[in-house]
Amino acid sequence: MTDGAPHEAEVYLHHKQGHRLPVWVRTSPLLDTDGRFTGAVETFTDISSRRALAQQVEDLKRLALIDPLTGLPNRRHLETQLHARLEELRRSGAGFGLLFIDIDHFKQVNDRHGHDVGDQVLTTIANTMSLSVRPFDLVCRWGGEEFAGIFPHTTGAALRGLAERLRVLVAHSRVDTGTEVLAATVSIGGSVAEIKDSAASLVKRADALMYASKESGRNRVTVG
Ligand code: GH3
Ligand code: MG
Ligand code: MG
Repeated sequence: MTDGAPHEAEVYLHHKQGHRLPVWVRTSPLLDTDGRFTGAVETFTDISSRRALAQQVEDLKRLALIDPLTGLPNRRHLETQLHARLEELRRSGAGFGLLFIDIDHFKQVNDRHGHDVGDQVLTTIANTMSLSVRPFDLVCRWGGEEFAGIFPHTTGAALRGLAERLRVLVAHSRVDTGTEVLAATVSIGGSVAEIKDSAASLVKRADALMYASKESGRNRVTVG
């Protein structure tokens, strides 16, 4: 304190539980209006790596469940949630619907405009859908140009209405490449979970209904 300057150091303090932990100490002298030394402030910062480790684990968990391109939850996350919702359905009868959503003629977008523009289309569609569902709905990137969504508290008619709304919102979305403004459409298949469903049987049904939408002309919804 006598030199009147702040100082910093890494020290090891005794924790009340007995162990030592690394702490960053910063000391600042306090001077009165005449410049006389009257005391000091010391601040202690815990720099033990345990907090950093916990943060790293959180980051890794997040990375494992998030699709880096679109920022949506990935297939792994949706599958975990699907099992949880099916369990809930069996316990409490809480119904939910599953949608499968596939971009139409997406290969042509890549072939004509390049992969980067394809990525922009994917991100735009992801944003349109994830921003227009209810907070407890879950829209994820299933993989490639396919998305899937879980919609709790939903009957067949409501699921159809919801899917139709997503279809129209996507068709009305635009991607500005700088030289062109593009639009894309999606084909959607959906089904309400039944007590006897497994995750696989429900996914299979929604996926088959999505293909039915493709076969009947694309840019449409089939809910069964
Ligand atoms: P359909 O209407 O029958 O679904 O035709 P499609 O062209 O969309 O379907 P297809 O399965 O033939 O092609 C999917 C394309 O999606 C091929 C693949 O290169 C592209 N794709 C998958 N993932 C990505 C991605 O992350 N970025 C980009 N740009 N393209 C992707
Ligand atoms: Mg596909
Ligand atoms: Mg496709």
